[in-house]
Amino acid sequence: EFAILLEAPDAQEGWLQAQAASAVQVMAEPFWIDGESLLLGCSLGLVQERGVAGPDLMFWHAHLAMQHAKAIKGCTFQIYDERVYSRAHSLADQEAELRLALRRDELELHYQPRLNLKTGKVVGLEALVRWRHPERGLLPPLEFIPLAEQTGLILPLGQFVLQTACEQLQRWSGHEDTRNLSIAVNVSARQFRQPGFVGGVLQTLANCGANPTKLKLELTESLLLGDIEDTIARMGQLKREGVGFALDDFGTGYSSLSYLKRLPLDQVKIDQSFVRDVLTDPNDAAIVRTILALAESLDLQVVAEGVETTGQLAFLRLHGCEQFQGYLFGRPGPVENIDAYLHPGH
Ligand code: C2E
Ligand code: CA
Ligand code: CA
Repeated sequence: EFAILLEAPDAQEGWLQAQAASAVQVMAEPFWIDGESLLLGCSLGLVQERGVAGPDLMFWHAHLAMQHAKAIKGCTFQIYDERVYSRAHSLADQEAELRLALRRDELELHYQPRLNLKTGKVVGLEALVRWRHPERGLLPPLEFIPLAEQTGLILPLGQFVLQTACEQLQRWSGHEDTRNLSIAVNVSARQFRQPGFVGGVLQTLANCGANPTKLKLELTESLLLGDIEDTIARMGQLKREGVGFALDDFGTGYSSLSYLKRLPLDQVKIDQSFVRDVLTDPNDAAIVRTILALAESLDLQVVAEGVETTGQLAFLRLHGCEQFQGYLFGRPGPVENIDAYLHPGH
């Protein structure tokens, strides 16, 4: 985020809007770097003050207006006004509500099985968070994870997920049928980057008495766009303690192959968008085959996500995929479902 201060005591009506429009337009032009054109964009929030509000409030209002511009359509500008105020207000309300939900234990984990079809067994489960909202019912993560990321509540939320998963691992470790199961936990960029992330994960594992080799962290490609050396260092520290790593939604981002080789990954998960159309879209089929070949040469396991039909499964198996997750094998559900599934008749 950048701030621009313009002093214009004699500005005519519309002058500020014209400045903003030209800034947005300039930023929308391609940038040429090493012969490659890169497209950026910017969203601007404007605030007109006559020195009464003070700098803090002025910046805050500009920030809210910018967020408004970004949310409405992006690559545009927005003047701080009544609409910005009321939208920000409801965002603050939402934040307060989610904060309360964390305190009132309204969040819970559902688990979805991952199978290895070479052995025909469930090898692990992915923990997927849900919000049991008192009025709105069971909410999927897409309804509140973005808000949590925006507000920083992803840190306590992520800790809740990690803690619950580690407690579950500990419970499962006591039974023959469940002691080999791993749990995969989704980690947001903001969580992964926070100082003390590595120590926090190890501490949680230790406090719960959970086996680190049964915990898998799922990172997304966008997370790798940050400081790559720092990423490798953090992953390495956890990896040395036995924690595993999967690269989630693989194929949707822009992982560089040279980075991919340097990361201590165990697994890539083919994004469900490719799996969905693998039988009808030749491009998606080609991407899936390429990912499988690439993973083979890098010695990575591959999990196909979002497998819903036997046709998709047949194609994936034909090209060498062994691990699967999707509605065909089981939907995410409360832990009792998983227990019933693993111990039929109990
Ligand atoms: P994801 O990590 O890619 O999770 C897989 C999503 O695909 C889940 O949606 C799951 O219910 C859905 N899914 C599984 N099998 C199928 C299938 O066969 N067909 C279709 N159409 N969908 C399938 P869900 O639970 O709504 O989660 C959405 C996203 O929310 C996750 O995507 C993940 O990015 C995020 N998320 C979930 N839990 C957490 C969490 O604890 N922390 C963070 N940071 N993000 C989370
Ligand atoms: Ca995931
Ligand atoms: Ca995924």
